Amino acid sequence: MERENPFCAYLYDLSKLRHHVDRLMTTLPSNFRLFYAIKANSDETLLKTLAPVVHGFEAASLGEIEKIRAVDKEILILFGGPGKTQAEIEGAIHNRVALLHVESFHELQLVNHIAGQKGTTVSILLRVNLRHSVPNAQLKMSGVPTQFGIDEFEVPNAIALAKCLPNVKILGFHFHAMSNNGDSKAHAHFVDHCFERAKSWGKEWNIDISYVNVGGGIGINYQNIEEQFAWDDFIEDLQGVIQKHKDANWQTVFECGRYITSSCGYYAAEVLDIKQNHGKYFCLLRGGSHHLRLPAAWKQSHPFTVVPVEKWSYPFSRPEVTESVITVAGELCTPNDVLARDILVPRVRVGDILLFHYAGAYGWAISHHDFLSHPHPDHLYIESDTLIHEAILV
Ligand SMILES: *Cc1c(COP(=O)(O)O)cnc(C)c1O
Repeated sequence: MERENPFCAYLYDLSKLRHHVDRLMTTLPSNFRLFYAIKANSDETLLKTLAPVVHGFEAASLGEIEKIRAVDKEILILFGGPGKTQAEIEGAIHNRVALLHVESFHELQLVNHIAGQKGTTVSILLRVNLRHSVPNAQLKMSGVPTQFGIDEFEVPNAIALAKCLPNVKILGFHFHAMSNNGDSKAHAHFVDHCFERAKSWGKEWNIDISYVNVGGGIGINYQNIEEQFAWDDFIEDLQGVIQKHKDANWQTVFECGRYITSSCGYYAAEVLDIKQNHGKYFCLLRGGSHHLRLPAAWKQSHPFTVVPVEKWSYPFSRPEVTESVITVAGELCTPNDVLARDILVPRVRVGDILLFHYAGAYGWAISHHDFLSHPHPDHLYIESDTLIHEAILV
């Protein structure tokens, strides 16, 4: 089949996703639960693939709750996020969310009020903004002043208020604190710290804690893709934490986004031009940060490999560079449209395809798709990574 337009697509390896999550699920200690935070990628096919293999989904808006209910009527939903509106809280109740994460005193009153009007009780976790002991991750929602959660110092007051409100039932605490933490030891230590806090509040305020949600935040190493988060070491360290807190009989919840869908996703874009400017090589793609904004947002290079394409249909010579340092830019009219900077490649030619790895989370989902009105990429679903090259090289 002859291709008319330059290649540009997201590819999702569904079997890789299933295997990855299977491994996480089978190694998880008993009493631990793994939820998928769908904001990392709420693609319908991914949600359908994940629904049978995770314990549930975490949603951060009514739109996300509705996306989840469209693929699964029964799956457990956790609902969090700052600044919930009345309509969102009503929608959450209507869609039978399992737990609502309350982010402030006002929200506590609002949830209680709406639940009262509906003649129901809402099960809640209080979202805590910890003062200390948050690992050095790429993004911090906790341990520093942010818009998220209730200040750790104010938690006793929030508990006291929650206990007076007839239409909310406090079942525990929520501690999502960071994103892209690559250090498994620090993550296990963080879980231990969450357990300490939950235990002391539970005891002091006589709360029967059913859930401790330690959030997501497990990271991807985009700089060195051979060295990823040491999941097995993490699980081993968690056994120590579990031993230490033997008396705790709550369920511990992870709500991971990035760590679940990042590795199954690829972004593939054809090289449109190669040029030299001020002594540097630039490789221009059909695509760019309007499809994959993550590297530009974090000012880092996204890992990629070159997929050689032999076909060349023009009567003039094909631009190429070998053993050269290149910067990979997209098709937008802004110098910020860079996906990788100063990367040594063995060879790249116009018409080859760059395959970006670890693009399944916070890729398409966070990008400004219509800036400059270029066409969107295709979204292709495959069942094995050996098929990636076949999908690209049609
Ligand atoms: C974004 C988010 C997550 C998922 O974070 P990752 O870093 O993708 O694991 C989990 N919980 C909450 C409350 C979030 O906002």
